[in-house]
Amino acid sequence: MNQTFQDEAPGTRFLLYPQSPFMDPNAKPELVEISAPPGSIGAGPSGPRMYTVNPVGKTTPYGAMIDGPFGPQMYLPSWDGYIHPPAEPDEYGNFIHIDPSDPAFEAAHLFGAAHFTMDVWEGYFDRPIPWHFARDFDRLELSLLPSLDNAHIGWGFLETGGTREHGNEYRPYSLNFDVVSHEIGHAIIYSVVGLPTQGDGPGEYYGFHESAADLVALLTSLHFGSVVDGLLENTRGNLYTFNRLSRFAELSENAQIRLAANDRVLSEFAKGWSSEHDLSEPLTGAMFDVFVDIYHERLLVHDLISPEMEDLSDKLEGTPEYGAVMQRMFDERYAEDPDGFRIALLEARDFLGTYLADAWEMLDADMLSYFGVERALLAVDQEITGDAFRRIIEGNFRMREIGLTEAGPRLAEPDENSHSASIRTQVPD
Ligand SMILES: [Zn+2]
Repeated sequence: MNQTFQDEAPGTRFLLYPQSPFMDPNAKPELVEISAPPGSIGAGPSGPRMYTVNPVGKTTPYGAMIDGPFGPQMYLPSWDGYIHPPAEPDEYGNFIHIDPSDPAFEAAHLFGAAHFTMDVWEGYFDRPIPWHFARDFDRLELSLLPSLDNAHIGWGFLETGGTREHGNEYRPYSLNFDVVSHEIGHAIIYSVVGLPTQGDGPGEYYGFHESAADLVALLTSLHFGSVVDGLLENTRGNLYTFNRLSRFAELSENAQIRLAANDRVLSEFAKGWSSEHDLSEPLTGAMFDVFVDIYHERLLVHDLISPEMEDLSDKLEGTPEYGAVMQRMFDERYAEDPDGFRIALLEARDFLGTYLADAWEMLDADMLSYFGVERALLAVDQEITGDAFRRIIEGNFRMREIGLTEAGPRLAEPDENSHSASIRTQVPD
């Protein structure tokens, strides 16, 4: 059960795969509780904020332009045709009785993943996050469309298809927690930061959007007990292993961490950029390094590592023996108190989640820059802890050359993989 809600009123239970089950044939879904009280989620699943449909015979993705009575118009929810049998709650109102082999499992998983992500982030924001499309729709329609090789969120919908790249096997994105959570991340940013008022905003706005969506998915996935345990067991609590300066970086089994533990710097984009996914990497990398450093601060606070270990780490950094020496020390310390390491990791996770939420509240879509994100984080840090993490934030942002240079112009027309120039950002007139 997740950390955030275990002390609160009972919620509705779902089985979720923390990572795509297609990567690991032995993957087992984990039981999580979403914030909705038992009995409040009906068949679909369907709740007050979102509902899932599995349409029969739907061929057109939402957001496409179609002919309407008054000329071309955007195709939008709600689906009014036939539907496949919905996922039904059990007698207690939960959805944990549906086996992954049941065709209704996909609908339940999509709903649970989207709702769980929103729960975690409304916790960090400490307020409800309204849908950016609330003008036209009360609820988000979660729609399954197997013919779509994509997952996209837009005006009133989150639609997921799947890929057939692996032979003839259909691998639905609805079962990939990171994909669904990332899309909800975009929705959160549209709601909290908004869209540029002119058609095209500053380039760093688009990189920021992707970075924020990835961080939403990453921090939400750290609310799965199995993800936290796996990360700590694999590293024996040594997250320095992901530090960009340690050349011994083992690749994590977690896809989001692989993405975040990158070594891109902003000057690589100073002459221009064509993919906002690539452009997002220096910012995501800076945030991930901040996270690792906060985690180590918490280890120090709890006496799980010693200041001498920190000094030694600084001294050996970049030398051939660095990785092995550090790992030996972590192996020893971690074996003494694995639970202490777990608590430090959860504290770092929640510091970063709260900092990001508070910082995002301060941003303006028309003037957004990575350096502005740093300044917002520093303001939050000053207010919450009196500058406890100032050195960490400034150091890691400077390492990524944020504040020293900025992204140049967009070089290529957005292609179909672009999230920001897609139907996500189009608002019907
Ligand atoms: Zn995206």
